[in-house]
Amino acid sequence: MIYIKPMKMVKAVLCTFGLVMGAIFPIYAGFFIIWIPERKVAFCIGCLVAGYTVGLFSFYIVKAILLKIDNHYKIALLGKFGVENIINSEKGNDLILNMKNEFKELINKYAELMESESEHLLKLSITDCLTSVYNHRYLYEYFERKVSEEISLMTILFCDIDHFKLVNDTYGHIKGDLVLQEVAKIIREATNGNEGIFRYGGEEFVILLDNYSGKEGFNTAEKIRLKICNSNVIKSYCNFEIVTISIGLAVYPYDGVNIDTLINKADKAMYHVKQSGRNRCKIYNSEINRKSN
Ligand code: GH3
Ligand code: MG
Ligand code: MG
Repeated sequence: MIYIKPMKMVKAVLCTFGLVMGAIFPIYAGFFIIWIPERKVAFCIGCLVAGYTVGLFSFYIVKAILLKIDNHYKIALLGKFGVENIINSEKGNDLILNMKNEFKELINKYAELMESESEHLLKLSITDCLTSVYNHRYLYEYFERKVSEEISLMTILFCDIDHFKLVNDTYGHIKGDLVLQEVAKIIREATNGNEGIFRYGGEEFVILLDNYSGKEGFNTAEKIRLKICNSNVIKSYCNFEIVTISIGLAVYPYDGVNIDTLINKADKAMYHVKQSGRNRCKIYNSEINRKSN
């Protein structure tokens, strides 16, 4: 693998060293052992073979040690021999393949992380942090998306909590926040998991009910209104005082085809409720328009 060229070099060095030692051994041996002239050649060849064998043996020991070293060290050790040495070998291919897979895995994990992080950021940017419903900004995008899906009917509810300033002033801002959270929860429950719930302003919520007629929207609005004024949770925040809500409705496409017009008409209907005593639901009509002008 990685070692083909470097290891060949190591092998050549060790074997050559063995051969040289084998070649010079008889010269020194001549001084110490009894010199037998007729065996001279055989003795020299024997020494060369023995030297080469020792060199080869040392090479296998070195190789065995290197193979036990961790891959990263191998690369560091062999780095100076050039990457092509690593690539152009059988085991090197395995190593490169492993590295490629590890790298791919790392990239995939990073991509997954980035995706979930950007999803999280996107969700944060369109969510109201107090009530966890969508925020005002997302209302327009959501409406456009619904319209582009070519829905034929949608009812828009504009909800405004009655005398909410008084709730804050009497029970404190923290209790006011809890009331807002509970109102959002009630709206979610009453709309059966409908996605289109937006905190439009401080104590105002807008609800888009796609494929709901005005009558169906009105029934849902009534459900929300009754649940809020009967909520024991809300009462527990307000010393058992009742909190109520006023809701105005407008219907797409009859009352308008753009969100501003529809919100404006639903708001007028809601304002009409405020003027006539609060804690009611009202569908927009031309009479309301005439009065408000
Ligand atoms: P009306 O019945 O006419 O709607 O009266 P209101 O008191 O509800 O209306 P107004 O617009 O005068 O007051 C709205 C109050 O909502 C004022 C503000 O203190 C409160 N508010 C707005 N945002 C928040 C919030 O995030 N938390 C709390 N606790 N209160 C908020
Ligand atoms: Mg208001
Ligand atoms: Mg209000």
